[in-house]
Amino acid sequence: VKRIRGGASGGSYDVVVVGGGAGGVGAAVGAARCGAHTLLIERRAYLGGAATASSVLSYCGFYTQGDQPVQVVHGVGAEVLNWLGRHGLDTTPHHTRTGNTVIVLDPELTKRALDDVVLDAGVDLLLHCDVAGVEMSRGHVETVKCVEDGGVFEVTAKGFVDATGNANLVGLASNAARGLSVDERQRGSLVLRIGGLPPDAPTPTLAELVGAVAAANTRRRSPLREPHGFLGRLPVSGDLLAIISDVDVDPLSARSLTVAEVNGRAEANDYLEAFREGVPALGNAYMVSTGPEIGVRQARAIQTVRPVTGPDARRGGAVPDLIAQAGWPMEFHDPDGSVRYEPIGGPGWFGVPYGALLPIDLDNVLLAGRTIGADAEAYASVRVMGTSFATGQAAGIGAAVLASRGSHDVPTVQAHLQQQEAALSQIPEPMKKKTYGRNSSHHSVHHLTRSQK
Ligand SMILES: Cc1cc2nc3c(=O)[nH]c(=O)nc-3n(C[C@H](O)[C@H](O)[C@H](O)COP(=O)(O)OP(=O)(O)OC[C@H]3O[C@@H](n4cnc5c(N)ncnc54)[C@H](O)[C@@H]3O)c2cc1C
Repeated sequence: VKRIRGGASGGSYDVVVVGGGAGGVGAAVGAARCGAHTLLIERRAYLGGAATASSVLSYCGFYTQGDQPVQVVHGVGAEVLNWLGRHGLDTTPHHTRTGNTVIVLDPELTKRALDDVVLDAGVDLLLHCDVAGVEMSRGHVETVKCVEDGGVFEVTAKGFVDATGNANLVGLASNAARGLSVDERQRGSLVLRIGGLPPDAPTPTLAELVGAVAAANTRRRSPLREPHGFLGRLPVSGDLLAIISDVDVDPLSARSLTVAEVNGRAEANDYLEAFREGVPALGNAYMVSTGPEIGVRQARAIQTVRPVTGPDARRGGAVPDLIAQAGWPMEFHDPDGSVRYEPIGGPGWFGVPYGALLPIDLDNVLLAGRTIGADAEAYASVRVMGTSFATGQAAGIGAAVLASRGSHDVPTVQAHLQQQEAALSQIPEPMKKKTYGRNSSHHSVHHLTRSQK
């Protein structure tokens, strides 16, 4: 990993990206590769977002579903995979029993891969830094207020990217962001990493865990919830990754998160005891890690110029203003705890339009990763990390183009995507006409009412 220079934290940039998950990494590298002076701000000590902070250790969305998966995300995401491959991780796509294709990760290698890819692109990186305020005039963000332990400082930029997952930047700056109610948002999960399995032991099945919990419940005063969801084996460590219980948590409330984290850790320990008792391969198992934090699937919805929708996903294929390809099926986490997949139509991927990156009432903020404009159905697909790299790269390029030209310009964004080998399959002609800008029609295009979200 490159060594980086010290210096004061504030300054002035062409592009500032807030949030260093898959979306933010894609955005920062995409912007820097356009020649933009780019700052990436992340509140944690490392990049990766949910992958590294919540042990979501498999990249979904790089490939279409089915027996003959096609890679639909290239560009920055593929660079990260290449880095991991060069450093000894087996990045061979792994086919799951649900017909999906994923790449399984090691957390420490993933942190280093992201450091290296970001710094190699010339991005200025600030970790341990929280964006907690904005200064703006008439829909234009001038400055973000950043908090480090030393105090508060300001950073100015011509273009900003909100890659915070929970859309915290737009939440500070705009009325286009709305916190979702418990009935609207997908639930979160506290992911468990369990060590101590004999290396040659087969991965325990979900049925074995369910049986162990049922047996433990006969002895318990308050029964444990039946495990459901995902079990997998991690590369390098051989740990068991268990995403087995969803939680109702308001991801925008520290109080709600506190309750969920504390109760989640207690529940995780009870599960571990049940598994040690009831599953022979887990007799000597121990908890490597809970979380470290609860994984949040959804928090806010943002009204955008042209949200991506369930009908787009069912139809599949390109859309006008195509800037990314989404190949993960719509994955619904239903209130009863079950998980349901609905396939993508057409070629097995659907296009994300540039307008999904544009909040309706901000003229220099673009969205990346799971902040993009999507209805509930499309969101169930586009939120995954492979797709987040792709929407992020487009948002970063869009912000760089905005910074240099003063207006949005979709054909130029698409040209940069091709130059950066993001390899969009089809770019239909009609979309090449469209530009969005401060004084153009973008605020009047496709206004959504709140009820539509
Ligand atoms: C339990 C669970 C399982 C999942 N399973 C999978 C899976 O197997 N594969 C897959 O691909 N996807 C999966 N997902 C979805 C996926 O993890 C997320 O949708 C994805 O991480 C979105 O990427 P992102 O970059 O948009 O956001 P995030 O990964 O959430 O990253 C956002 C980043 O912004 C930072 N940030 C936030 N606010 C601020 C601020 N104010 N200042 C500075 N930094 C800030 C955060 O610290 C974080 O690092 C899962 C999600 C959950 C919760």
